[in-house]
Amino acid sequence: MSPAASIPEGPGKVSRADWRRPPKARVRRIRDRLREMYGRPINVPHRQPVDELVRTVLSQATSDLNRDRAFGRLKERFAGWEQVRDAPVEEIEHAIRPGGLSRQKAPRIQAVLGELGPDMNLDWLESAPRDEAMSFLTGLPGVGRKTAACVQVFTWGRPEIPVDVHVYRVGGRLGLFRPNAAFDEAHDELLVLVDPDDSYEFHMNLIRHGRTLCRPKPDCGGCALRRMCPFGRARRAK
Ligand code: SF4
Repeated sequence: MSPAASIPEGPGKVSRADWRRPPKARVRRIRDRLREMYGRPINVPHRQPVDELVRTVLSQATSDLNRDRAFGRLKERFAGWEQVRDAPVEEIEHAIRPGGLSRQKAPRIQAVLGELGPDMNLDWLESAPRDEAMSFLTGLPGVGRKTAACVQVFTWGRPEIPVDVHVYRVGGRLGLFRPNAAFDEAHDELLVLVDPDDSYEFHMNLIRHGRTLCRPKPDCGGCALRRMCPFGRARRAK
């Protein structure tokens, strides 16, 4: 397969049968290069699964700063998640307005909280088999694979690699999954490729790279990964 065939934004498609998964040794070299650029982030799980669920709903289509402002206002105005669940939806909407899309997010937050049972205790998820935990979380209203993976990683430090737009763009350009892979397939592939102990670091550093050099218009000339990146090589060859 030519390098150009691995470019996610390119016109070519690669079938599952034709896709050749990159060797783990290459993935470790990418990990090491990213580590040189961005350091080795340490995960400090907070063990607050309901907080994480609400935070991820609030994070949709907004900046981290606005998400945190909206989350802070919710925590400030309500004594607990039970009160958020049972409040008039307009009050939730008003509290989270700085996070944007409050008319959609307020009922979504209440719908999620309404599915967590009377005591909202999700501690059992920490030791549940991975598939069972993911199945429960993705069964909640509006909770997709990325949100479920975020809950697993940030709440308990379980090995997941949530695929957001940065992870998808950078990982695709580096040829870690098929150019035309769906987000769920990219997630599955990354879990196979990345050692579980490295999953948090890999996730965070792909995001950092996607926010700095490997933006939609990438700065390949200044990128330490350019020699191992099919997308960067193909751009240089043009
Ligand atoms: S070489 Fe370019 S496309 Fe590849 S990872 Fe670096 S910035 Fe992104």
